[in-house]
Amino acid sequence: MLNMISMEAALGEIQAIAETRVLKAESRPLQQAVGQVLAEPSIAALAIPPFRNSARDGFIVSADVLGSDESWPVIGEIRAGDTLEQAEDVKGPVARIMTGAPIPSWGVAVVMLEHVEVDNEHARFQQPIEAGSWMREQGSDIAAGQVILSAGRRLIAEHVQALASSGVTDVVVHRRPRVGVCSTGEELVALESGIPGSGQIYDSNRPFMQAQMQAYGCDVVVSEHVGDTLDAMTGFLHRVMDESLDLVVSSGAVSMGRYDFVKPALEAVGAEIVFHKVMQKPGKPLLFAVLPNGTLYFGLPGNPVSTTANCRFYVHHALAVLQQKPMEKPLKLRLENDIEKPEGIAVILKARCVRAKDGLRVQALEGQESFQTKPLLDMNGWIVLSEHLGSMQAGDLVSFYPANPNGLPDIF
Ligand code: AMP
Ligand code: MG
Repeated sequence: MLNMISMEAALGEIQAIAETRVLKAESRPLQQAVGQVLAEPSIAALAIPPFRNSARDGFIVSADVLGSDESWPVIGEIRAGDTLEQAEDVKGPVARIMTGAPIPSWGVAVVMLEHVEVDNEHARFQQPIEAGSWMREQGSDIAAGQVILSAGRRLIAEHVQALASSGVTDVVVHRRPRVGVCSTGEELVALESGIPGSGQIYDSNRPFMQAQMQAYGCDVVVSEHVGDTLDAMTGFLHRVMDESLDLVVSSGAVSMGRYDFVKPALEAVGAEIVFHKVMQKPGKPLLFAVLPNGTLYFGLPGNPVSTTANCRFYVHHALAVLQQKPMEKPLKLRLENDIEKPEGIAVILKARCVRAKDGLRVQALEGQESFQTKPLLDMNGWIVLSEHLGSMQAGDLVSFYPANPNGLPDIF
């Protein structure tokens, strides 16, 4: 077991182990796969546009019409949904055409309705017509047979537009991670159980972890609260092993207290403890283990901000590796305020990216203690300063990670 390692080393350990447990690929109907990560590239079945068509409601004209200011009889009409053969049967040199309708072979340009005077089914064009105008060429958006979304990309609704139009019905994605969450602590009261009694507080970590894991695209299969005893904790570990989960996150009971039973329980069931304690603030007592059945186990310290930050940086990292997402890269933004920090320990700060005259800047918020949750309401991300850095001044460039790791596309 590694003790008191750097943030970077901890992320490396997680990566190395998660790499060996990459989630199986499965084929899923396109619209059901949003939020999942592609395990194989998607290939366009059709070209987009699949045939040359009009980009405007207006008139399709032949080459004879270009450069003429005569009035032309309008012979026929081509509508969206007409076949290419029907379009071909309509004769030029001028015919009405609707947006999306196929263009006959004699057509060289579309003139939009707004630029045409129509009188008694004769059309006069108000402006010189440029060959090729308002025509969408076959394959000009996407070519058939092309890789249009590569493996490692997380599917978002916008992708569905492009994939659906090019005839992709199913995608091959990593299956959704199956996870368990658990809060520990005798002092905790579940939200739904009424007002906390003397010495009690609401359990906020469990609703948070459940919501966060769902937001990260996981199926939360187990969600429990357990008391601060070795038996309760080992009982929980046996139950999650029965469920063959990919990953389990618990909060609390990983520090130095007499009732911190996570580590002894992991040892009792024969788990491999990979590391315990990371040189960072908040969330130093973070523990990472592998259960005997291969499930990854994160024991997060119970302070609400420790749980939140460790989920964002460590649990999310493991989930990304399990689904072969590319390594996340921070934004580099200039600081608004000074940050005091000793070297030798990484800090993860509740932060807010703000608009400034010269673009975006980032502010470390007031209230950085790990029990202080109010700044979580005002933040939109985190500043991470590695253990190699000391104090920072306003204007310095720092690493900023958006609160939602999926908020910026994975190609950012
Ligand atoms: P622990 O890591 O168990 O020593 O807990 C550290 C601090 O976090 C204590 O003040 C706990 O009361 C608090 N805490 C632990 N778990 C939770 C939870 N699920 N919800 C809210 N606060 C918690
Ligand atoms: Mg506790």
